[in-house]
Amino acid sequence: MKKQTQAIRIQTNRTNEMEHSTPLFLTSSFCFDNAEDMRAAFADETDDNIYSRFSNPSVQEFIDKLVALEGAEAGYATASGMSAVFGSFMALLKKGDRLLSCNSIFGSTHTVISKYLPKYGIEYGYISASATAAEWEAAITPNTKMIYLETPTNPGLDVLDLNMIGQLAKKHQIILNVDNCFATPVNQQPIAFGADLVVHSATKWLDGQGRVLGGAIVGKKDLIKEIYLFCRSTGPALSPFNAWVLSKSLETLDVRMERHASNALFIAEQLEQHPAIASLRYPFLPSHPHYQIAIKQMDNGGGIVCFELKGGIEAGRQFLDRLKMLSLTANLGDTRSIASHPASTTHAKLTEAERQTVNITPGLIRISVGLENKEDILNDILQALNNL
Ligand SMILES: *Cc1c(COP(=O)(O)O)cnc(C)c1O
Repeated sequence: MKKQTQAIRIQTNRTNEMEHSTPLFLTSSFCFDNAEDMRAAFADETDDNIYSRFSNPSVQEFIDKLVALEGAEAGYATASGMSAVFGSFMALLKKGDRLLSCNSIFGSTHTVISKYLPKYGIEYGYISASATAAEWEAAITPNTKMIYLETPTNPGLDVLDLNMIGQLAKKHQIILNVDNCFATPVNQQPIAFGADLVVHSATKWLDGQGRVLGGAIVGKKDLIKEIYLFCRSTGPALSPFNAWVLSKSLETLDVRMERHASNALFIAEQLEQHPAIASLRYPFLPSHPHYQIAIKQMDNGGGIVCFELKGGIEAGRQFLDRLKMLSLTANLGDTRSIASHPASTTHAKLTEAERQTVNITPGLIRISVGLENKEDILNDILQALNNL
């Protein structure tokens, strides 16, 4: 079956009720007929469900779909994107190991890497999003155990060369762990370029409707086994209810992402020359500094457009205040278009210099382009930009 079909037709076994839509297994534990069956399940001699912190059919259905879409061997679903990121680090890294990452990554991931990993004796290093193969190679030390990156990055929309970094990781036998949140598996499959693990915040495009938190880690079987054992003991399990919602969401991911991307490309093209805008980034515009990499590894440019307002931080705040339809909210990847201004919100606690190193400029606006009519989205942005 092709991926679009798998996202729809992978389903837990139909129950005796002969339901058409997938059932929801909202239960914390599972029953056994007798003591021997229960003993065998606990001894890992069977793969019967025991307890929903370990496994649950609704959760399994969601992860099976994601495994198919990413072309992975196995996976584990978590309560949020951050627990997927954290679980993938803690299960596989130990004292003395080093994690190498790109310096433009999601804010909470940066906090985990720079504040919490060192508490457990795990070292880290950062490299620029536009580093060359030689610079990457020079940044790899003998104790570098994992390379972690996001592409495209949040919020700066840097695009990293998965093929180049995948080859380096293989050569040095380093685990390559990629956050594929922004592209989603219908647009980019990092495993095809050599990634060993892919993490997701399912909260964003995978749900796509701003309803539930969720996360997932998929990839090589032996690595997922370690992550599963860590998570089943430490407890970041995905709720079966959220898994049920997310599994239904995956059925429409392909069509949703196609429209998000075509709306985003339209918005990007229309705004690129606007007099209030100093620069604009969209991975599938030829003006994007990493355009050649983007068209090599992505099927479309995704649903996020970023631009820099000429008027800096004050213009950013004014722009948000003038919007009539676009939502001001911390999420992204929704049917509803969303605007955010990182310098005055998510990254306000950083110093100007710290923001510069992660490419958060004072007038940076991030638009998560929704599924509303593209002219309506554009017109709201244009009226907010007028005379800014
Ligand atoms: C939101 C986000 C996360 C964290 O996911 P949560 O579900 O909010 O925990 C991780 N990576 C990226 C790129 C994100 O945008």
